[in-house]
Amino acid sequence: MRYIEPHAHMVSRVTDDYRAMVTAGCVAVCEPAFWAGFDRSSAAGFYDYFCQLTSHEPKRAAQFGLAHYCWLCINPKEAEDLTLAREVLALIPKFLDRSNVLGIGEIGLNKNSRNELKVLEQHVDLAARHDQLILVHTPHLEDKRKGTRLTLEVLRNDRRIRPERCIIDHVEEHTIQMVLDAGFWAGMTLYPETKCTAARAVDMVERYGSERLWMNSACDWGVSVPLAVPYAALEMRRRGHSAEAVDRMIYQNPLRFLGQCPNFKPPAAVA
Ligand SMILES: [Zn+2]
Repeated sequence: MRYIEPHAHMVSRVTDDYRAMVTAGCVAVCEPAFWAGFDRSSAAGFYDYFCQLTSHEPKRAAQFGLAHYCWLCINPKEAEDLTLAREVLALIPKFLDRSNVLGIGEIGLNKNSRNELKVLEQHVDLAARHDQLILVHTPHLEDKRKGTRLTLEVLRNDRRIRPERCIIDHVEEHTIQMVLDAGFWAGMTLYPETKCTAARAVDMVERYGSERLWMNSACDWGVSVPLAVPYAALEMRRRGHSAEAVDRMIYQNPLRFLGQCPNFKPPAAVA
């Protein structure tokens, strides 16, 4: 089995996780910028975090032969503070020419507030001006359907944004259809408790097809499973999906979406 982990917060994980992922067939890992589990007190905290994502973490992954990529933004949870958000957004262009940066993410909404929406629009504008891919986090504590609808409106209102260059992550049964119908990619996050189990994810693959769909573990500092993607692949095989269908879901699909960014090198070219 080979797979790409398109969404994992490796700064929160231990080296054993890297080893287990590589052993299970992981050939590349992608790390969106995220909330640290606590609010950072200043833009300087984000500067250090962006250095960690673009410089330190790729070296840690390389020790296990794994390619590491990242996405940059201020996450929606901290975007309530408009002054902080403005300062962090101003930092991002300095990092966009780093060789492992895939785009702007994970942006989006947390509580669907007015300030979060404003900062979401600013991120979308930044991505458009710098021709970046977009990775969107959809809320799971508040109203996911409303948050997803509002996010799609922001993306569609900016005529520079092409839906095939945006992935809407953490979709569930009640949001996947609207995302795919609007031409965007959709990500399913495999969590042991919240979001989506392997069984539910495979149900969605069977119902909606795998054309513009990927799976990720979104493993972070909370309860989460770094091997969730290969575990879901086992569930696909158990239900009789072919090895080719599994490979398309967990390797070729992320490759197709991420390959739109020139920084993303096909894993064979990295070796
Ligand atoms: Zn995440």
